Amino acid sequence: MSFDTLGLSDKVLEAVKASGYTEPTPIQAEAIPHVMQRRDVLGIAQTGTGKTASFTLPMLSLLEKGRARARMPRTLILEPTRELAAQVEENLNRYSENQKLNVALLIGGTSFEDQFKKLDRGVDILIATPGRLLDCFERGKILMTGVEVMVIDEADRMLDMGFIPDIERICKMVPFTRQTLFFSATMPPEIEGLANKFLQNPVMVSVAKASSTSDTITQHAVASEYQDYDKRAKLRELIEGAVDLKNGIIFCNRKKDVATVYRSLDRHGYSVGALHGDMDQTSRTATLNVFRDNKISLLVASDVAARGLDIPDVSHVFNFDVPVNAEDYVHRIGRTGRAGRTGVAYMIVVSY
Ligand code: AMP
Repeated sequence: MSFDTLGLSDKVLEAVKASGYTEPTPIQAEAIPHVMQRRDVLGIAQTGTGKTASFTLPMLSLLEKGRARARMPRTLILEPTRELAAQVEENLNRYSENQKLNVALLIGGTSFEDQFKKLDRGVDILIATPGRLLDCFERGKILMTGVEVMVIDEADRMLDMGFIPDIERICKMVPFTRQTLFFSATMPPEIEGLANKFLQNPVMVSVAKASSTSDTITQHAVASEYQDYDKRAKLRELIEGAVDLKNGIIFCNRKKDVATVYRSLDRHGYSVGALHGDMDQTSRTATLNVFRDNKISLLVASDVAARGLDIPDVSHVFNFDVPVNAEDYVHRIGRTGRAGRTGVAYMIVVSY
């Protein structure tokens, strides 16, 4: 199957080619034609399936007609975290290189000034986290009445983070006639309820069983007898023994352990960085960038960072701790084996 048959505009098709994509992933092949026909879409897909392009490519094609007006975004993409929002922006900038469209990011932890300036100039695509969007709305800096397409991405993550009341408020602020694209990796009852309430006659597109892992990832569980010192020694053993280790993410359950494991690996001479929810935006972005540019090869992270990282080819994921729930496991190891590539995941299990 080729991208040419999906109804995307020529400019977008050119950008897709320039990105090096030769064929659409299953979610793209299924969702894009429906989005182009302005249908509401309910997509069950996790990160790593190519779902971002499944909504951004048709949005860019649809936006070619028309112009943005000051403070009235034409489309809105809601993301649960700043990292995810920044990655969607990065993807959009790449896919819209042949178009004159304004993309703006409205996220916490950065200055209001610059964001307001962009909004004033007129925005075709606004990518926002719910809290910052409502904040701007309450300050009278943004009008939602021009939104033609709204995307709610990672809805189950929004639920975990307590954003559902915010999402409900936002849904009521945008015109009833908008097109809504709704994505979630899983479909717990609360999410189903939200989808029923805010989508109109949606097409359901599902690419993998909810909470399932990709076949391209080889998964290992390894035993460690004790906590702490022993586990860190086991982790080093796994890193040393890993075949074709290009780069890896090490997940810990608690931020305290992120710091300990980071310091330990650093002391042992590994090229390593750390990422957790409490870091400010500047240091998170800086750490992510050095990892993406292969200036460090290991990244110790907590789950807050797990959903957001868009690093195309992480070769290994190490679960320093067994995650608290199955979904976190799926999301953690989903950082490797993306878009059809192979990946390896290890999990250290303590046996008392
Ligand atoms: P996502 O699920 O949107 O986070 O995408 C996962 C990764 O797959 C990203 O690094 C994308 O750049 C990449 N990707 C998206 N679509 C394609 C495609 N059709 N072919 C190859 N890679 C893709």
